Amino acid sequence: MDRYLFPTVVLAALVGFVLATAFPGTPWLLEGAALFKELFLSVLKMIVAPLVFFSVLSGIVRLDAAKQLRRIGTLTIAYYVITTAFAITLGLTVVFLFHPWTNAPPLSAIETASTHATLIGTSENTFGALVRNLLAQMFVNPFAALAKLNILGIVTNSIVLGLSLLMVLPSDSVVKRSIHEITNAIYKLASWAVWVVPIGIVGIVYQMTTNANLALIGQLAAFSGVVIGTTLLHMVIILPSIAWLGGGIQPATLVKKTFRPIVVALSSSSSAATLPVSFHAANDLGVSSTTASFVLPLGATINMDGTALFEGVAAIFLAYLFGLDLNASATVTVFLVAMLASIGAPGIPSGSMAGMQMVLLAVGIPLEGILILLMVERPLDTIRTSANVLGDLVGCVVIDRHADVN
Ligand code: ASP
Repeated sequence: MDRYLFPTVVLAALVGFVLATAFPGTPWLLEGAALFKELFLSVLKMIVAPLVFFSVLSGIVRLDAAKQLRRIGTLTIAYYVITTAFAITLGLTVVFLFHPWTNAPPLSAIETASTHATLIGTSENTFGALVRNLLAQMFVNPFAALAKLNILGIVTNSIVLGLSLLMVLPSDSVVKRSIHEITNAIYKLASWAVWVVPIGIVGIVYQMTTNANLALIGQLAAFSGVVIGTTLLHMVIILPSIAWLGGGIQPATLVKKTFRPIVVALSSSSSAATLPVSFHAANDLGVSSTTASFVLPLGATINMDGTALFEGVAAIFLAYLFGLDLNASATVTVFLVAMLASIGAPGIPSGSMAGMQMVLLAVGIPLEGILILLMVERPLDTIRTSANVLGDLVGCVVIDRHADVN
């Protein structure tokens, strides 16, 4: 999960391609490719449940400050929810209008190793059925949710546990500290798991090339173009408008003062690593330090417009590739789960990949989809991280203006 990952992924893709061109369809290579892919998926599945559980739990427990800063707390959460919902809606609307990848047929080459477990049956189309299904998945035994990788159940359990801990624990509680420490350890574990990615890539590229599915490259380019264009639209039109109307900051001033954190976000792909520069920028924008110290760290963990937009568009793209028809229920599920997933994603490079699995599992898209996304992950992560960071800074400006903090 550092600067070596991207070159390694490219190299792995090349190795898979060269092997498939030189030795197409060799039985032992086909078996090896399937094994590599299986290994990657198993490692992902191993890490996703604890990662989601603890990152949501530690985010909620950190909300302690909302007790002292109730008004800022309410405004902040409202801002996060509204802007994230807006970003996903923008993504889903653009994809509804432009889906250039449908010019090529869906994949038939990839044998899916993972089960098509769905949280929402794709044939269920009534609103009542959608709500019933969602509730049935949300309120379940926590151990069952963890064991079955029921992400909605895991998130619900960790939210209610987090809220109850907030009520009973003192602010300097050792339990809270332990939760943050365990969460950090799990992030570390996740960063190790990422090193299995190149192995998975070799496997999937070998399988795809052997089956001559090179149209996928064009489809990936089209998908990347749609994600980048829509994210830029959010960054250039939507967020500056919110800063202007809600925070009284002119677009030119916003560009000037947020330029540095955006460059750092582009180069680090991490909202968390960009935090020190973001604090500086918030100060330049005239935001009080009380607001900045509350809104920025929380935002770096839970306010991710770029991530939510990416996850929504990626789910629709992958559903097409795997030949799944997403109906209204499934699209609403993508919306809700992408929102939750962006809240649960840590502000680190590729932090949203675990959340992406949530979205895929929720509507029954095979987890192999992650491997396809990883081929374009680096450039897309840089752009969505800068949208995440700009969203946090605009939030600071708007909240500071309305929260009456001196
Ligand atoms: N890299 C992103 C961030 O730090 C998270 C993600 O979408 O992967 O904001």
